[in-house]
Amino acid sequence: MSTLEIKDLHVTIEGKEILKGVNLTMKTGEIHAIMGPNGTGKSTLSESIMGNPAYKITQGDVLLDGESLLDKPVDERARLGLFLAMQYPAEIPGVTNAEFIRGAINARRPKEDPISIRKFLKELSKIMNFLDMTDEMAERYLNEGFSGGEKKRNEILQMMMIKPKFAILDEIDSGLDIDALKVVSKGVNEMRGSEFSALIITHYQRLLNYIVPDVVHVMMGGKIVKTGGPELAKKLEDEGYAGLRDELGLDI
Ligand code: ADP
Ligand code: MG
Ligand code: MG
Repeated sequence: MSTLEIKDLHVTIEGKEILKGVNLTMKTGEIHAIMGPNGTGKSTLSESIMGNPAYKITQGDVLLDGESLLDKPVDERARLGLFLAMQYPAEIPGVTNAEFIRGAINARRPKEDPISIRKFLKELSKIMNFLDMTDEMAERYLNEGFSGGEKKRNEILQMMMIKPKFAILDEIDSGLDIDALKVVSKGVNEMRGSEFSALIITHYQRLLNYIVPDVVHVMMGGKIVKTGGPELAKKLEDEGYAGLRDELGLDI
């Protein structure tokens, strides 16, 4: 079992404090969700966990199995088992989707033991089929000209191929129609197991009907203000963030 621990995390962007002391512990085997209004720092949290240098950590820590990740660059964190599906996945012209995924897999293996092309292609084809993706998607340049839904589905393909220990899925549901939402959810549910954990970031409850989380956190004003079970997501859907603000007497 592995543990990812976020401890009293404070993060500033361009001198402005966005995260104001986030605490969150996840263990493999668990699915967590973070819900929160726009602009509250959800993407800031995911980028900070992954190590994007644009986000300055001024206090607190991010620990994997007790070891701080703060001095480790993004690629090292990926090797250690972290994965981020970004809210706005980057386009990388000139690199095909298949090349990118194979590179990511090999970066996590010993240099002398890359995955065989045959094995890779077999696995890729199997998972693309599972995600209702057409084969030609593999040979297209990464995310270039992909629709919003194709990008999100492709992030799930990467996750399933790379098999991280901790996957952070930042608004993987945004812009998805119901069929794509079901496919994306099917992919995450397929990964569920004792060696996998996901942090599902969303501001809609809808996704959590398909991926039922073990724990739901609500983030407001750069902090986690409430933690509960799946029923918390339903309550938010009914009462809105304003209802929770009133209940907790928050002034944010
Ligand atoms: P969320 O994902 O919850 O919608 P974000 O983490 O994207 O929130 O943003 C939190 C706050 O940080 C917002 O006020 C946003 O404007 C600000 N912010 C995010 N990224 C940047 C950036 N690169 N430069 C300046 N401000 C930023
Ligand atoms: Mg946002
Ligand atoms: Mg965001």
